[in-house]
Amino acid sequence: MNIIVVGPPGAGKGTQSKVITKEFNIPHVSTGDLLRDEVKKGTELGNTIKNLMNSGGLVSDEQVTELLVNRMKEDDCKNGILLDGYPRTIEQAKSLDTILSKIDKVVVIEIEDEKIVDRMSGRRTCPSCQKLYHMTNQPPKNGELCDDCNIELNQRADDNPETVKNRLVKYHQVTSPIIDFYKERGIVFSVYGDGDIKEISSKIIKAIKE
Ligand code: AMP
Repeated sequence: MNIIVVGPPGAGKGTQSKVITKEFNIPHVSTGDLLRDEVKKGTELGNTIKNLMNSGGLVSDEQVTELLVNRMKEDDCKNGILLDGYPRTIEQAKSLDTILSKIDKVVVIEIEDEKIVDRMSGRRTCPSCQKLYHMTNQPPKNGELCDDCNIELNQRADDNPETVKNRLVKYHQVTSPIIDFYKERGIVFSVYGDGDIKEISSKIIKAIKE
């Protein structure tokens, strides 16, 4: 089973991807996580892309695709994959056709731009277990500490309002056209992303099973 999750920044792709991967027992591959890992490790690629990512720009198709192809060589990807944040351009969508033999479903999570900046400012992640929180919608039990690891949560460097606006522009200009690219194949399922997280998850899971 190969699934792609598409949506503007802050639509809930990460949260819903975690639910879907658990249900279908496939790995969650986020190109954003792969790239952040390169930055954290201070690799040559990481050092080149750090400022670009912090300002909300897109990393080059070649660099992201190479990183993804390497990740997909790992054993856990043999029986399927959930892609979160890839493809983000038509060029990447074309590359993906040469990498995957079949794409089963493209899940599009929709939300109005006006709601996004607010949602993003409350977003936090545990630097250890990567659990996602939102200070209003899904707050940790104790201050800004992870419920499971009891360590201070992080805010992503690119979740500030200015960068979020740039990321939204990129989403509308270069990423959203991939939805029509996949619509022609009849594999797109769109869901409204502002509402009860569990209700949204069940709609997505039902659509994937159909
Ligand atoms: P995300 O975690 O998906 O929001 O991605 C965070 C940042 O990583 C994006 O704003 C881009 O700078 C970069 N990025 C992630 N995936 C891609 C991709 N498929 N193509 C280009 N840049 C990407």
